[in-house]
Amino acid sequence: TEKTMDKIVALCKNRGFVFAGSEIYGGLANTWDYGPLGVELKNNVKKAWWKKFVQENPYNVGQDAAILMNPQTWVASGHLSGFSDPLMDCRECKERFRADKLIEDWCGENSVELPKPIDAFTQQEMKDFIEEHNIPCPSCGKHNFTDIRQFNLMFKTFQGVTEDAKNTVYLRPETAQGIFTNFVNTQRTTRRKLPFGVCQIGKSFRNEITPGNFIFRVREFEQMELEFFCKPGTDLEWFQYWRTFCHNWLLGIGLKDENLRLRDHDPEELCFYSKATTDFEFLFPFGWGELWGVADRTDYDLTQHQNVSGKDLTYFDPETNQRYIPYVVEPSLGVERSVLAVLCDAYDEEVVGQDKNGKDDVRVVLRLHPALAPYKAAILPLSKKLSEPAMEIYNELCKDFMLDFDETGSIGKRYRREDEIGTPFCITVDFDTVGDGENPGDQCVTVRERDSMEQVRVPISQLKAYLTEKLAY
Ligand code: ATP
Repeated sequence: TEKTMDKIVALCKNRGFVFAGSEIYGGLANTWDYGPLGVELKNNVKKAWWKKFVQENPYNVGQDAAILMNPQTWVASGHLSGFSDPLMDCRECKERFRADKLIEDWCGENSVELPKPIDAFTQQEMKDFIEEHNIPCPSCGKHNFTDIRQFNLMFKTFQGVTEDAKNTVYLRPETAQGIFTNFVNTQRTTRRKLPFGVCQIGKSFRNEITPGNFIFRVREFEQMELEFFCKPGTDLEWFQYWRTFCHNWLLGIGLKDENLRLRDHDPEELCFYSKATTDFEFLFPFGWGELWGVADRTDYDLTQHQNVSGKDLTYFDPETNQRYIPYVVEPSLGVERSVLAVLCDAYDEEVVGQDKNGKDDVRVVLRLHPALAPYKAAILPLSKKLSEPAMEIYNELCKDFMLDFDETGSIGKRYRREDEIGTPFCITVDFDTVGDGENPGDQCVTVRERDSMEQVRVPISQLKAYLTEKLAY
């Protein structure tokens, strides 16, 4: 019962979590559409984040900025000049690579230790490393690469009718800048004192050279970002606070700690403006991959925007009567990567007995945290004759919970279908529930729990309270 990407991708496709984008036209490389279950899961991940980072957190507020921003934004943020990946082609087979990833993958496969983190390599150092170690093209095995050149990852388009440089705009490559550009607006309207944070969830776009691993690396994705503003000198404490908070959030949505790794950048890997950075990595079936970046970004971003815009972005500290630019701690998390981590972590195959031929009977079960499960419960009439009373229960409970209703196939098969999509509770309506002419029935239903498969009898009148308690997040 090995967990593989193939199994997870197949489940996603077959059960309506994730479809290949534009499929009827032969697709569009590395685009993915979220089906009826995928959209629920994705929304639930975002809701869980918003609940803990905004609703329940005393420091933070939310916002939702535009995807298109004044291009000066990207001058200030450094994305126009510096947001690029080292691109390289194989002259023989014409495959295109990121030089940094080529080196990392080759080192991983050949157990060669890098002398320093790959992000600390210059372009020349990458080229030398590839030559010294005679790293081959993973596609054709030859050693004939072009020079490395920098490729800017921002998507360009035009605003308005004329397609010229003056009208060029960019799809944002991260949501963070819309928080920085609104710093004064948010601080003024909320009358917040430092420290406070601003949270945002939204689409970002990056023209990645090598997207892949299903929804891990895509060109259109969503981010959940927090920019936490604090007084200079307190930043490292807040960095630790958010590092721990983020770790707990991941554990709280059910990820297993053994599948998580908090990798602190060492000094030479750090961006020049960052005092501390931790990459949260998750053990995907294809290896460790970055899930969340938490960084102490100092006053870099606001200073840049103040310089480029000419607007005063300082904060007046009423305690010290001083003006200064706040420091920023940024936890930045991808929605799709979280969804993929959640799916990989939850996927399980369990032997639950033997079939008639003595072969293992295996059930596939997504052990999703109930808060993330697309359906909170499934209403299952034991027989089609019981559709009506079952539908009554459905109509009442669907006001509070996202529900499935399934009346086709044997009850065993229906349980398995719900296990496979992570539905935490199956509610079966049987003949004892409703009785018949003389007998009023017990007005109870059987509630089966997904993980333990245990069943209890619950009065219909108590179902809502029962589910509310079990689903609390
Ligand atoms: P990588 O090294 O994997 O390209 P990054 O360090 O460039 O990622 P950040 O700029 O720190 O990533 O972005 C913050 C988060 O946004 C990442 O941790 C990830 O969860 C998500 N993210 C970034 N790029 C992508 C992408 N192409 N597809 C999906 N999610 C992404």
